[in-house]
Amino acid sequence: MAADLQTDVLVVGAGPAGGVAALELARQGIGVLLVDRSAFPREKTCGDALVEESLNILAAVGIGDFVRERGHRIDRLRFWAPNGREFHLGGDFATLRRRDLDALIVEEASRSGARFIGEVEVREPLVQGGTCVGARGTDRKGRTVTVAAKVVLLATGAGARVLAAFGVLQEKRPPAFGIRGYFRLPAVEDEKAMIFAYDRALLPGYAWFFPMGGGLFNVGWGIIGAPPGRIPKDRSQLTTVLPRSRQVARLFVGASQESPIRAAAMRTGCRGARACSAGLLVLGEAAGLTFPFLGEGISNALMSGRLAARVAGKALEAGDVSARFLTEYEREIRCRLHARHQGYLAAERWFRFPWVANLVISRAAGTPALGRLTREILTGQRDARALFSVGGLLRVLLGRLGPRGGWQRTPVAKTP
Ligand SMILES: Cc1cc2nc3c(=O)[nH]c(=O)nc-3n(C[C@H](O)[C@H](O)[C@H](O)COP(=O)(O)OP(=O)(O)OC[C@H]3O[C@@H](n4cnc5c(N)ncnc54)[C@H](O)[C@@H]3O)c2cc1C
Repeated sequence: MAADLQTDVLVVGAGPAGGVAALELARQGIGVLLVDRSAFPREKTCGDALVEESLNILAAVGIGDFVRERGHRIDRLRFWAPNGREFHLGGDFATLRRRDLDALIVEEASRSGARFIGEVEVREPLVQGGTCVGARGTDRKGRTVTVAAKVVLLATGAGARVLAAFGVLQEKRPPAFGIRGYFRLPAVEDEKAMIFAYDRALLPGYAWFFPMGGGLFNVGWGIIGAPPGRIPKDRSQLTTVLPRSRQVARLFVGASQESPIRAAAMRTGCRGARACSAGLLVLGEAAGLTFPFLGEGISNALMSGRLAARVAGKALEAGDVSARFLTEYEREIRCRLHARHQGYLAAERWFRFPWVANLVISRAAGTPALGRLTREILTGQRDARALFSVGGLLRVLLGRLGPRGGWQRTPVAKTP
């Protein structure tokens, strides 16, 4: 097939998933072309929060030091219940603007031998005998570009159109959205904690206040469990809806807005698109890997990027890019994430009820065993159904939280 460019692996989308995949492929000595429709560096609408798992993966791929230097260190999460009670959870977190994080990963991938081309929008696959053998798109001047590749990694985020064009889309409408802007918040003194405010009117979503350092905050609203496909057209709702909550209003006193307010979709719950087909792997948000309930997705995007690089490398070595061979990727994603996603979907359902949010957050504040369980859930050692189930909530309600209370016996849900 005549093509403008040829490569072993074409990676479409240079967010954390595509960037890390390109980096890991290049380090294996595999020819890799990474394209993105944006010129880099570019903004990405995000809360900019890096959880422990994200920091660990970034360290494992050799860019942990930069993130620590450029990012803002956070040592606590603060969860606010609708009734005003608060629960603190210590840990190792950071914030770093996505503009910087994503550009850094792309630079590292380029240094490792990947070729990066910005302002190329991929529109459709090249297909031969049912196998994806590359992609066709347009460059910034509107000229058609075709790339022939042995394997294509689709890491295009939440947009449905490109997933449909590649034949992997299962659900068009994303299940969650977020709105965010940057603000100076003189009323907030604590710049070492990320605040999650669960106001009654926002449940099961929440307002977030993430310090970026130097008095700047990423402020957002995670619209979770809303009727699918409804993104608020009026972005100023961030500054009109959130301050209706008394707790949140206090944080906005004297606030100044430092950026336009932007909204974006989230694909969550390991659903919405198939993770592989012949010659093709789907990574990160495109495969629905952002966690329901939390809206945290950078860690899974990074993890899927590394995994996809490994499986694509093996497929090239074996000379077999069939769907059957590449299914290893889908299987492993399922094994690592299915139970955690199901757990957060359960949390999302329960957190619609303000009494559940009040109960869990209030009790966690005074009960070390519940604090530990929350930490285990957030770090992936437990699935959230250990807490967000009839049995789990009954144990919280009855105060049966100690070693004999049942949690220690709750098996970690795993999909084989
Ligand atoms: C408001 C909001 C707040 C969030 N906050 C957090 C948070 O604080 N922490 C966290 O961990 N997660 C957060 N998330 C989730 C997180 O943003 C995603 O999980 C993460 O960005 C997924 O990474 P990705 O690489 O899969 O996709 P993306 O980061 O979306 O990257 C996709 C890339 O593909 C490119 N692209 C798209 N289509 C094409 C095409 N056709 N051709 C070429 N290029 C294309 C895009 O330009 C983009 O660069 C948030 C999400 C939202 C919406």
